[in-house]
Amino acid sequence: MKNSLSNRRKFLKLGIAAGATALIASGGNILSALSEPENKETGEKMKLLTPEGKLVEVDKGHVCCQPVGNLEARQGLPDKKMVMVIDLAKCRNARKCLQGCQKMHFLPPHMEWIKFYLLRDSEDQAPYWFPKPCLHCNNPPCVKVCPVGATFKRTDGIVLIDNDRCIGCKFCMAACPYSSRVFNWEEPKMNQDMKAGKYSPETSTPPKVGTVSKCDFCPDMVRKGELPACVTSCPNGVFYYGDKNEDSVTNGTDTVRFSELLDSRAAYRFMEELGTEPSVYYLPAVDRAFDYKEGFENLSDEEVALYKKEARITE
Ligand code: SF4
Repeated sequence: MKNSLSNRRKFLKLGIAAGATALIASGGNILSALSEPENKETGEKMKLLTPEGKLVEVDKGHVCCQPVGNLEARQGLPDKKMVMVIDLAKCRNARKCLQGCQKMHFLPPHMEWIKFYLLRDSEDQAPYWFPKPCLHCNNPPCVKVCPVGATFKRTDGIVLIDNDRCIGCKFCMAACPYSSRVFNWEEPKMNQDMKAGKYSPETSTPPKVGTVSKCDFCPDMVRKGELPACVTSCPNGVFYYGDKNEDSVTNGTDTVRFSELLDSRAAYRFMEELGTEPSVYYLPAVDRAFDYKEGFENLSDEEVALYKKEARITE
């Protein structure tokens, strides 16, 4: 990897071939791949997307990456099917889940693996807060479009990204109908020892600049018998997480039957009509614990105005 990085820098300095010029700005692994002398031409062409949204054609032999490593991380947790249930009636947009997630994954404040929307089902109903991580689809469009097999779905249903293989082409970002993926534009703020630490797709750390990332469902925590950061950081018990095969989910305080929770609260999956089959379920915001306005407390005036506009709130 060290060689790849130094080659990448050389490649950037030289500015090389016109056909690859559009890829330079990506700063991603595309560069290291193209600069590897051992990458042989195959004659087979493929298209890639540059950060400016331009399609470029390259030889498939030039788009390669690290061999598949860490097979355990690719296979998943044996006999498990991980699911999440998000109780919208308890969410007040406190964003502690996001802060916990960012701390665990060394993400800068503007990099959000959980996004927040203020939704309103009709003019007659009050708005409600809607946190949205990656939905870990059982039929994930993002996986189908990755040209190098960097993103994959495991036997336990978790969709991960191997940033050692990711070439930063952003096809997966375009394919995700839920806008769950983000691009790592900058170096992570962590000490050199941690930056040099062993990367795992299960921890998504150390983050790699020039690659795509997203909520990883914290499989490393499950291996340790612990809960994801969003679950333990939420002060209101919004996030339930668990194993569908055991029919059990917990928010850290209450442990309940997954199937009963879904039935009793009329759970649904977001934009299910797309056929993506998310592993994340939502409980409707019925009998709400908070007024939606409490969620404006820590937001700027601009942010509040934007949320109000999106939810068609005129008051
Ligand atoms: Fe892929 Fe988007 Fe589904 Fe996550 S929500 S698995 S990124 S398609």
